[in-house]
Amino acid sequence: MSANDFEFQGLQTTAIHAGEKPDSTTRASSPNIVMSSSFVTDADTPFSAENLQGQTTFFYTREGNPTVQQLEQKLAALEGAEACVAFGSGMAAISALMFHQLKSGDHLVMSDVAYVGAAELMKGLIPSFGIQVTRVNTTDLKAVESAIQTNTKLIHIETPCNPIVRLSDIRAIAQIAHAAGAKLSVDSTFATPVATQPLSLGADFVVHSLSKYLCGHGDAIGGAVLGASDELSGIRDLLVHLGGALSPFNAWLIMRGIATLPIRMKAHEENALKVAKFLESHPQVKQMIYPGLPSHPQHELAKRQMRNFSGMIAFQAKDAQVVAPAFAQRLQVIHYAVSLGHQRSLIYYISTQEMLETSFALDETQAEAYRNFAGDGVFRLSVGLEDAEDLCRDLDQTMSIVGK
Ligand SMILES: *Cc1c(COP(=O)(O)O)cnc(C)c1O
Repeated sequence: MSANDFEFQGLQTTAIHAGEKPDSTTRASSPNIVMSSSFVTDADTPFSAENLQGQTTFFYTREGNPTVQQLEQKLAALEGAEACVAFGSGMAAISALMFHQLKSGDHLVMSDVAYVGAAELMKGLIPSFGIQVTRVNTTDLKAVESAIQTNTKLIHIETPCNPIVRLSDIRAIAQIAHAAGAKLSVDSTFATPVATQPLSLGADFVVHSLSKYLCGHGDAIGGAVLGASDELSGIRDLLVHLGGALSPFNAWLIMRGIATLPIRMKAHEENALKVAKFLESHPQVKQMIYPGLPSHPQHELAKRQMRNFSGMIAFQAKDAQVVAPAFAQRLQVIHYAVSLGHQRSLIYYISTQEMLETSFALDETQAEAYRNFAGDGVFRLSVGLEDAEDLCRDLDQTMSIVGK
């Protein structure tokens, strides 16, 4: 049975088979890695990237590659998207999307709290091209509505957002965007298609850092934009011209990771729930933020919008200034490191003062809403796939040192 004429019903089957089929020459069951940067062509093949649209053969790997294409097809199937373009990183995907959607004189509405790289891009480079940016707390639908201007072309949100795991209502914001003639893009890195398929809720674009849950093993960086074919063909032109291409080797690693995405997400969620409950009752923990717990202020939205609560936890500690270095020095299982979504648990302390001063451009009300979630700083914990009991013991033995 060829993967192309069988309609996959389940997400796990899709994750394993979509985009792949046995190699027609060798009949290899697992995908090959095609590392070739160049492909033998006919004499009449067009040289300009502008003439490449609709071309079915490969030419040069920055413009298209068989292994990268397999990954793109797999991602499109998982998100229920018409098309997907893969990039060398999540940031390459986000910046290509911005430069495709926004021209000088246009207006962007963006989540006030977002991944630092994206937040800093919208604070510096994007406005320098004559694009207006308004940052809003996108958990507040009225704030989103009142940020809309006649020249608003795009609303960009992240849900759950990095680093404080705050949610935004995709369906409601899509309606606001469309009523204004604007488009909605959703960074769904924390959720993954296992939890949420933003396009089915009305979003126009989904972006992912593939470096996180989709790869899942912390050994490859990549990104992707998904959406309608006509938009995505313009975004592919930008990939060709901005050049943030994904290595076929990384595409292959990420595809291999995706094969187990649904079962990994189940395990991440189960572990995160155990660790979150443990931390919530720990005397050193001041506030716990996990969408799967009734204590999360948006638990109802989480239940409506997420089929899986993912593995991302944010929490505040009473003596964060002491706990942070203790984590860095004493944790045995959990790594004190950035990034997330790997099989290994990762923890990192994010100071509120630093975020407000460097990355985010928030007004007073937004800063106060941020502090409500984050206090003076949050520990962002990406709960991995180790045994939850070991993770809890590791956190406990480290935090119990504090105050002794
Ligand atoms: C990590 C991350 C990114 C950036 O992805 P890279 O692959 O590191 O470039 C973007 N958005 C979110 C939510 C992230 O967590």
